[in-house]
Amino acid sequence: MSIVTKETILEALKQVNYPGFSRDIVSFGLVKSVRVEDGDVKIAISISTNNEAVPEQLRNEAELALKEVPGIKSLEIGVAVQAPPKANSTNTQGTGRQKIDGVKKIIAVSSGKGGVGKSTFSTNLAMALHHELVELGQSANVGIMDCDVYGPSIPLMMGVSERPSFANDKIIPQENFGIKVMSMGLLVDDSSPVIWRGPMVTNVIAQFAQNVDWGDIDILVTDLPPGTGDAQLALCQNMPVNGAVVVTTPQAAASNVARRGAMMFEKVNVPLLGVAENMSYLLNEQTGEKQYIFGQGGGESTAKALETEFLGAIPLDQEVREGGDRGIPVVLSNPESSTSKEFRKIAAKLLNLI
Ligand code: ADP
Repeated sequence: MSIVTKETILEALKQVNYPGFSRDIVSFGLVKSVRVEDGDVKIAISISTNNEAVPEQLRNEAELALKEVPGIKSLEIGVAVQAPPKANSTNTQGTGRQKIDGVKKIIAVSSGKGGVGKSTFSTNLAMALHHELVELGQSANVGIMDCDVYGPSIPLMMGVSERPSFANDKIIPQENFGIKVMSMGLLVDDSSPVIWRGPMVTNVIAQFAQNVDWGDIDILVTDLPPGTGDAQLALCQNMPVNGAVVVTTPQAAASNVARRGAMMFEKVNVPLLGVAENMSYLLNEQTGEKQYIFGQGGGESTAKALETEFLGAIPLDQEVREGGDRGIPVVLSNPESSTSKEFRKIAAKLLNLI
């Protein structure tokens, strides 16, 4: 007679995907415990959702997957459900997901695909939020958590390169221009390319959430990896995100992908705060004429389709690119430029939404 073990149970549970995703519940870290004693199996699963159908569906699928495992005498599957934060909530981090000590609010910045300027947007947004909070006379502690492990460009864009230090077993983020920065790019060597598999991304994000000593942070901007699925789900399962911003270019191709990505947030009940369009137009400084190089209207139509706010349009601006390369975001180096003002307008809108 076969002896059932924790490992065989976990192996079988890897066949169960989180509803609507291509990732299994084990690699997502949703299986909290498996106890096996003489063929009696007890499994605890913990998820964060408002969708009442999901727990039952997961339990049924888990039972089905375990049917094939020989040696199970009895099976108990507990699915604990925690409610995610509500849209436009004025609360600080929602209950249900583990809080990050000291962090009051979290905004996730996402894009359907790479190269649309998501990281550029995140750094300038962080600077603009800081600026707006200072203007409002409010506490203005802002941080950036670079979860884009595939191309961690935030350190370069924020002019940060020192390795973070450790204190009391926690990582102390680097700081520049009054913004705290944590990125995988600060921990791994430039010369050693890191090949990330899905579950590793989940782990890194969880580590960043729990093992970094952020100190007091009023708003943490998190730069998500590009894409439309699993990493975002992992992030939302690991920390209480108050809302998500989707960055897109005006091109139909980009905005279609952005739309799919945004629908993912709906699935995990993270409120969508709005859509921002980047590289919207090229401004001719002499004539004031706007050239719509990548087409027009993608951001607005995406916002409309998602029934969310169109936050603003950032032009294609040489100063933005140079600021990124030099490590001084344009919102700081030229705060009065029309581009910087647009970033601040977006920041002000977001402050009203979270
Ligand atoms: P992503 O994070 O989406 O991959 P990045 O933020 O790294 O994209 O931007 C890709 C490139 O485009 C960078 O070189 C950046 O400096 C440049 N870029 C982004 N936004 C703008 C903009 N509004 N104007 C000019 N260059 C931009």
